[in-house]
Amino acid sequence: MEPGYVVGGSVRINGFNIYRDVKSLAKFEASIASGKKRKTGETLIREQERIMQKIRGHSITLVPENAFRSLNPALKLKDHMVYTVLSRNAAGICSSIIKREKASLQDVEALIELVQQQPDIAGRNRLIGIWLTENAIFNNRSLIFNVFENSTDQENLHEQIFDIISKEKKGTDVSEIENVRNTLLLELQKNKLSLDIIMANDEKDTELKADLERELQSIELKLKSSTSPKDLVRSILNSTKYEHIREVALSYCYQVLRELGIDDPEKIADLYPDDVPVVIRQKMVIAMAFSVDSGIIVLDEPASNYDVNTKLKILSFIREQHRRKKELSIVIFSKDLTVLNSISDRLLVMYAGNIVEEGTPETIVSDSKHPFTSSVINTFSAAERVTEKSDKLEFTLGFSPDLTDPPKGCRFHPRCKFRMDICSLKKPLLAPLTEGHNVACFLYSEQVEED
Ligand code: SF4
Repeated sequence: MEPGYVVGGSVRINGFNIYRDVKSLAKFEASIASGKKRKTGETLIREQERIMQKIRGHSITLVPENAFRSLNPALKLKDHMVYTVLSRNAAGICSSIIKREKASLQDVEALIELVQQQPDIAGRNRLIGIWLTENAIFNNRSLIFNVFENSTDQENLHEQIFDIISKEKKGTDVSEIENVRNTLLLELQKNKLSLDIIMANDEKDTELKADLERELQSIELKLKSSTSPKDLVRSILNSTKYEHIREVALSYCYQVLRELGIDDPEKIADLYPDDVPVVIRQKMVIAMAFSVDSGIIVLDEPASNYDVNTKLKILSFIREQHRRKKELSIVIFSKDLTVLNSISDRLLVMYAGNIVEEGTPETIVSDSKHPFTSSVINTFSAAERVTEKSDKLEFTLGFSPDLTDPPKGCRFHPRCKFRMDICSLKKPLLAPLTEGHNVACFLYSEQVEED
């Protein structure tokens, strides 16, 4: 946004540069979509937005500061949660369903709907994988799991799984065949299995065969008529199964809210945002962020503005989520050292948009080197001692600079009591001091950051 602009650098998620790669991918996809027609700027922006929509909430989720303001006052809290979970976390719902002791036919149908919602083959395979590997109907779960883990031929994964299912199911009873049928229906969603193969496996039971044929035809019809994601969503919302999925999504959300210290989530979630205190709204937004299956969650001041008790509940919730979800990375922006110190594995201290020091919380708190970091730590220590009448609060003189016109050289130099001549001319490089402890300051290293 004016007057800001991108001068360099990159933001990468799993190697994907969300600035440059999105642009080139959008160009490529727009050229395919428009065929021989000239691509307009509008088409490119639309493509970029479409690609970013796949990244947001899937690869990365953001909870901005004062996120509670983002809730729609006309929607009940539970509707916010259900929409978030349904749009972003099919895998979570899938797991909730399969963890039930005995899956009903309705559960199976709900799973089929969820698989159908997945925009790509990887998403579908993942859901089918969760189902197959966790569902008790298969005796040889480890074998299937092995295929999912080790197969190099992801495109033909469904055929390999089908092979295992066929071998496992020889000579079993009708209910078992029905389970196989349901699995194959899932496969059909991917348009990969032909009807012939499925029929060959069910020839013993004519009634089941007729039933199967009808179901397959209706699903095929549905697939053909669902030409766009919008159509697909509409058909799912009109489906009787939607209520069932919604129910599962809600129970999933209630569980997250209970973990955040809300004892009666059913009652609270039935209210509108303006009917509950700010702190509940904030918890609601955090619960929504953790209800989706993101690889990275970014939280901006998630707990700093609340009382100590609430702060502790939010922090222990975040820590527990991190412990449970091994693949999840959490990035927290905060000015509150007590928040950062209690929860982080690694601290990056920023001043005027630049990283000036990096280390473990222990190093930063007890052995900070950069003058800005030290002044922040001293301010906190002074605040703790302020009850002693002789103590004065210490603070750093001056103000943070205007980032549209930052100071030359070290951006902290106008406020630094240790500044030297070089500080206003050159920018210090973030350089290692000891293992895992990096500092950008000419007091410790003469290395200069290139322009
Ligand atoms: S580089 Fe110079 S101005 Fe910047 S923090 Fe170090 S001593 Fe202070």
